[in-house]
Amino acid sequence: MGDGMRLGIMGGTFDPIHYGHLVAAEEAQYRFGLEKVIFMPCGRPPHKKDYAVTKAEHRFEMTRLAIEGNSDFEVSRLEMDRPGPSYAIDTIMELRQLYLQADIHFITGADAILEILTWKEPECLRDMCKLVAVSRPGYDLATFEKRVGEDFASSVHFLNVPGVSISSTEIRRRAAQKAPIRYLLPEDVRSYIERESLYR
Ligand code: ATP
Ligand code: MG
Repeated sequence: MGDGMRLGIMGGTFDPIHYGHLVAAEEAQYRFGLEKVIFMPCGRPPHKKDYAVTKAEHRFEMTRLAIEGNSDFEVSRLEMDRPGPSYAIDTIMELRQLYLQADIHFITGADAILEILTWKEPECLRDMCKLVAVSRPGYDLATFEKRVGEDFASSVHFLNVPGVSISSTEIRRRAAQKAPIRYLLPEDVRSYIERESLYR
C-alpha cells in the first residue's frame, strides 16, 4: 500500500454538499499531501433511513458543481452505480482494484467516526486504508477511545480542521422554510437547488 498515489476518499450523502465537506477535504489534502481527493456520493446510505434521500443524480450533480475548477478534486459514481446499500468497505475493496498501490485515506467527520463500529466490517476497513477523522463543531471525540477500544483508536488519524458549523440537514430545513442558504454552500449548488426545486 505504501509507495503508490496518496489518495483521499471523501464519502458522504452530500444532500446537499456544503462548505463543511469542502473545508474538510481541502485540509486533509494539505495535511496528508494527497494528490487527489475523490468525493463519493453514496447510492443508498445505510445509516439514513429516517428521511427520503434526494436522487443520487442530483447529489452527484451538486457535488460536481461544488468541486468544479479544483483539479485535485474529483467526483465518482462508483457508490451510486452499485446496487444495494453503500458500505465503505465495499468501496475501498473496489478502489483497491483500480488503484493497486494507492495509499488510500478515507476521510470522515467526527460524528461519522464515532459510529464506525456500526459500519460493515470496521476492522477490515481500518486494515485496508488509513482512516482520517476530521473535527466537526458539536461532536466531541473525547469518548472515542473508550467507545472503540485503544487498539482501534490508535489506528485512526485525527485532524483538526477549521470549524464549519454547517450540516446538510440544516440546509434542507432552511430551504424548506425559504430561509437563506446563500454562503453556506457554493453558489452554483445553491442555484441548482433553486432551479431543480429541491428541498421544498
Ligand atoms: P446530514 O445532516 O444530512 O447528515 P451532513 O452535513 O452530516 O449531512 P454528510 O453527507 O452526512 O453531511 O457527511 C459526509 C461526511 O462529511 C461525514 O463524514 C461527515 O462527518 C462529514 N462532515 C459533514 N459536515 C461536516 C462539517 N461541517 N465539518 C466536518 N465534517 C463534516
Ligand atoms: Mg451526516
